[in-house]
Amino acid sequence: MKTIGLGAAIRNLFSGSKITEEILEDLEDMLIEGDINVRAAMNIVEQIEKKAGNANERDTVIPLIREMLSRDILTEELSVSSDTINLFMLLGVNGVGKTTSLAKLSRYYTETRNMESLLVAADTFRAAAIDQLEEHGKKLNVRVIRQNPGADPGAVVYDGIESAKNNGIPLVLVDTAGRMHTKSNLVRELQKIDKVIRGRIENGNYKKLLVIDATTGQNGLRQAEMFHEAVELDGIVLAKYDSASKGGVVISICKELGIPFVFMGTGEKYSDIEPFDKEHFLDILLSDG
Ligand code: GDP
Repeated sequence: MKTIGLGAAIRNLFSGSKITEEILEDLEDMLIEGDINVRAAMNIVEQIEKKAGNANERDTVIPLIREMLSRDILTEELSVSSDTINLFMLLGVNGVGKTTSLAKLSRYYTETRNMESLLVAADTFRAAAIDQLEEHGKKLNVRVIRQNPGADPGAVVYDGIESAKNNGIPLVLVDTAGRMHTKSNLVRELQKIDKVIRGRIENGNYKKLLVIDATTGQNGLRQAEMFHEAVELDGIVLAKYDSASKGGVVISICKELGIPFVFMGTGEKYSDIEPFDKEHFLDILLSDG
């Protein structure tokens, strides 16, 4: 079934001559269906009611909504330094696009900064995750640091940092487990890895990045809360933003947790990643199709 985009739905809604109570209620529902959380949606509707006044044409309403959403979105450039070691640890539940994003970032920094990277397979919980990372490494011609399944992930990360230091590789990209037997096991393990990293790269550029799937809705907010509580996130990568014009969870995360978005994944190819651009994000969110 083809669904219409949030932009088209809103344009249709405001195609009449008057803004009625019913239209505003529908607008709130639409925003919530687009994964914008209830508080933000209510706020937008209130503002439309106040500001749009009699200017009820859709040409006024859409830019107004866009402006309000834009104000809530936080972005940050994920900079890399050539004077120190850079380490990005990617976190996220299984299936969100973590390993793919890691590989995309490796290619991105090679292409844009001519910066060599190595990949660290610290999800030792799943053998398939290690194999998957090795596959990416082969395709990208990038070194992968790994141990056997079940190994201590802290030890693998330690090896990765040593290897980067010894070989003069400036960027270390760490894959982590997204699921373990229990949530507390996962949190403990991530905290342990975090401690190893902090102890090994004192003045390095170390960032903890959560990957969320644009199509998972408000679950993304809950995931961000969980990982932020565990290790304090520095940024978020929005994956799979090609598959739907749903992505309102970005607004919720920025508003509720104040974490900036750093990259956006828009497809399955290695080249399908770009620094998070607010305007591009809003173009897609408010698109017609
Ligand atoms: P992980 O379990 O979090 O490491 O997830 P994976 O990286 O293995 O990705 C799960 C699936 O999502 C794979 O089939 C990927 O090809 C796909 N995927 C990842 N990122 C994107 C994206 O930006 N767009 C699309 N369409 N698919 C993606």
